[in-house]
Amino acid sequence: MALIQLKPSLLTVRRQTVKWIIIHHTAEIYENPASKIDNNNYQMSYVYNSVLELKDADVNYHFVIDKIKGDYIPVVTRPFVYLCDWEDIDPNINNRAIHIAVLGDYDFKIPPARLYEILAYRVVNPLIRLFALNPSRIKLHRDVSSEEYLACPGEFFELDRLIAQVRRFVVK
Ligand SMILES: [Zn+2]
Repeated sequence: MALIQLKPSLLTVRRQTVKWIIIHHTAEIYENPASKIDNNNYQMSYVYNSVLELKDADVNYHFVIDKIKGDYIPVVTRPFVYLCDWEDIDPNINNRAIHIAVLGDYDFKIPPARLYEILAYRVVNPLIRLFALNPSRIKLHRDVSSEEYLACPGEFFELDRLIAQVRRFVVK
């Protein structure tokens, strides 16, 4: 399995506190066919291959949700003390954002309830608790991008369904 080399010196250190959580799907930048499909095999290695091809320092998301043997598993990709690079997102938002991607292409597949559940319980809810965020701070990439026709995280991804799970697993 190809693994990216760790080069934190090439990453930008976060200087401001987190105010936004932004949701993506990996199909938008990692075009290896295997990493576009939602299936039961561990697919992060294909994402890493794409990172190598793009000559990036690391995966351009802080977390990626993969599906392995029938369930969704969050993987830490870019440590969140570093920023991700999104030129289509206002720096006032991006410099304060954590980026989470679901592995696959949700222009073609409807996200299952379990994906929203894992996303909320394992990743989003701990972060909103840690940074004292209101759920209104959770955004889809298409809603904060300057690109007019961007669909990310996919036509079938619904923010309302994620917010419903976030409210279900709120940490009091
Ligand atoms: Zn995106």
